[in-house]
Amino acid sequence: MAYLQRREVLLGLAGVALAQTMFGRIGAALAADKIKPGPSSALIVVDVQNCFLPGGSLAVKDGDKVIAVINRIAKSFENVVMTQDWHTPHHVSFASSHDGKKPFEMIKLAYGNQVLWPDHCVQGTGGADIAKDISIPQAELIIRKGFHNDVDSYSAFLEADKETRTGLAGYLKERRIDTVFVTGLATDFCVAWTAIDARAAGLNVYVVDDACRGIDINGSVAKAWDDMTKAGVKKIESSDIA
Ligand SMILES: [Zn+2]
Repeated sequence: MAYLQRREVLLGLAGVALAQTMFGRIGAALAADKIKPGPSSALIVVDVQNCFLPGGSLAVKDGDKVIAVINRIAKSFENVVMTQDWHTPHHVSFASSHDGKKPFEMIKLAYGNQVLWPDHCVQGTGGADIAKDISIPQAELIIRKGFHNDVDSYSAFLEADKETRTGLAGYLKERRIDTVFVTGLATDFCVAWTAIDARAAGLNVYVVDDACRGIDINGSVAKAWDDMTKAGVKKIESSDIA
């Protein structure tokens, strides 16, 4: 470890070009200023559940592609929290709960606009299970959300009424975790809302772009990145994590 740190300092002084000449690819990797998650960091794995994978009722395109990336970077984290969308059978966010409405239409509810979805992630069903290929045995907490029948919750922190808290901010605070790395599905909904609310909770927030996939309704992925950037969320790739 001490040896590596000295070498990084040396590489920093020498500059990347010289480092690449001297040490080849290893030198370049060390000089690349990677982020090393420590005990005050947590990986958040958002909604990697069967309903959101190809073949699921609300499939995110290439949603399964995040699994290998998440499994790989999870090895760098001692703290991992997973979220699980967990709806009642006739949840207010389901188009089937509203006469004459179709999935992806918008309606107005007491707390604001709500996109209507196909039925998904119903409590206790196989569709709500976390993908079987997610392999993160050290994950310490699964936080369920969207279980109040009349309120949706994209965010892992705050339900869509913007009042009801899930308890995640309190958990992270008690564990003295001040930095989160958000991954999962979908970029433009549950990932973005989770990341923005994590900023509001005072956390440093990275979103690992290649560990997420979006649904993208009318440019919603671009808008989500706009909103996240404005909120101070940092966009990184999995290769930025040591
Ligand atoms: Zn949902």
